[in-house]
Parts: sequence; structure tokens; C-alpha cells
Amino acid sequence: MQIITPDYYNDFKCIADRCRHSCCIGWEIDIDDVTLEKYLGLKGDFASTIKSNIEFCDTPHFKLGADERCPFLNKNGLCDIITNLGEDMLCQICSDHPRFRNFYDDFTEIGLGLTCEAAAEIVLTKKDKTNFNLPPEALELPIIKLRENLFAVLQDRDFSIDERVDNLLTLIGAKLPDNVDWYSVFDGLEKLDNAWDTYLSRIKDGIDSPAANNSLDTAYEQLLVYLIFRHFTDCRYDEKLTERVLFAALIYKTLKTMNRSNTIKELLEIARLYSGEIEYSDENINTLLYMLSAHQD
Ligand code: SF4
Repeated sequence: MQIITPDYYNDFKCIADRCRHSCCIGWEIDIDDVTLEKYLGLKGDFASTIKSNIEFCDTPHFKLGADERCPFLNKNGLCDIITNLGEDMLCQICSDHPRFRNFYDDFTEIGLGLTCEAAAEIVLTKKDKTNFNLPPEALELPIIKLRENLFAVLQDRDFSIDERVDNLLTLIGAKLPDNVDWYSVFDGLEKLDNAWDTYLSRIKDGIDSPAANNSLDTAYEQLLVYLIFRHFTDCRYDEKLTERVLFAALIYKTLKTMNRSNTIKELLEIARLYSGEIEYSDENINTLLYMLSAHQD
């Protein structure tokens, strides 16, 4: 099976106790069958601690503690399972995070998700154009060739980032609908973090923010390339090719409008929240794709 990854993929390392928004807080941590079997086979005091913190049900998971903390996230911000047993004893979901995987018949794509602050920093502060390690066979696939064209438009630094997004939409012959109240659409989606509401209130007047200076053009380029890499190829399943490109443009304009200070620091925070709120919910993504589909001429 061919694996496709962005060139920054191996740069990721969890920053553990230095992480301000640990993924070990606020998320249900499901335990896969293989790891559950390993836990059940353990002996000793720590094995008992693990077993007593598992909620045995259809989808076994750890019982979250106060403030929805994973019971193994200690007060120093480190994972007791790693310190006691090693990384090999983490369940699949913990080993994978913040990586995402998109599976297709002929290849699998793996990337770093923006919901992790360390990953977001790698992706959005990268100065060089992002490349992907494409096996020669992948380059023969029409969907990959088309996506390479989309990347080329987004990475054409002779143009401002707004011009590049316009060029992208011209290439696919579509435009973002201007008769949708995107604030109400986003506000109606399932939400996780109150901080997202603060940023949502910034799009009440629309998502066509006046052009700021271009100091963040490279960061927004990386955001758009990430969005196309992560979401576009699924049009193989749902045939929403146009909508998935529009989705990238919509998220770009939304996050840019939210970033009133026009700083990378605020963009990193907004991107982290966006990813957690939208990208981990198929329902939320499908609602946005539906809105983009329903409002095309
Ligand atoms: S969010 Fe990222 S950096 Fe923070 S604890 Fe999780 S994997 Fe590590």
C-alpha cells in the first residue's frame, strides 16, 4: 500500500508537559481491542489501576476524571502509562494523535492535524512550500494530478493569498455563495469549546474581511494546502469535488476574519479550535459541504 505524507510529517514530537491544550483533557479515549487485551494481560499494582479506570462497554474507554482529564495524565502533564510501561502500551488513538489517516483503495494518506498546538505550529509556520512524498504510481492518478494543480495555484507566490484563492475558485469554476449567513451555520453546529464562541462572534458581519497586510500569506498558504490535502481527496467517495475546494476557501476566509490581530499567534489558536470543532465531526463537515452544495447556481 502506498503511503503519502507531507514533507513535515516526521518533524512532529509531542511537547507533553509543555502543552497548554493537552489532548488528554476533554476527549473520550477509546481503547482498541489489541490494546485492551494487552491491558487485561498485565499483572501488578499499575495493572489494577489501569483496569479500574476502564469503562467496559460497547466501546471500552478510560473513565475521565475531574475537568475531563484522562486518569493517567499526572499533575506534571505527563502520561503515567508511558512513564510506567512505555509508549508501546498506549492505545492506538493515543499513539496516532494528532495524525490523521485517509484510506483509499490504492493509497493511504497520513498527515498532522491542526487540533494539536505542536502540530499546528509545524504546519502553519513552515516557510518553504510544502511538498508531498508522492510515489510515481500516485502521480498517474487523475485525482492526484488534479490536486497537484490545486497546490500549484495555492503555492504561486507571485500572487497574494486572496488572489490565489480567487484563482483556485476560477480553476474549478465555482464561487463561494454570498447569500449564506455563515455565522448562523457555524453557530448551529455541534460545539465543544466555549472559546470557539468568542471567535465565532467575529464573523457575525460576514467572512469577507478587508484585506490585511500580507505578512501571513505564507501561513494561510500552508493552511489552504493542509485543507486540500486533508479534505479534497474524499471527493472520490462523495463526488463533492467542487464543494471540497469551496470548503477550503470557506475555512480560509472564516479563520482569516476571526484573526483580527492578524498575528500568527492568534491564527495558531483559531486553527487549533477550528480543527477540534469541525474536523473531528463528520456531521459538522457534512453540514458545511451541504450548505456549499445547496447554494451553488
Ligand atoms: S495536543 Fe499534541 S502536543 Fe499536546 S499532549 Fe496532545 S499530542 Fe502532545
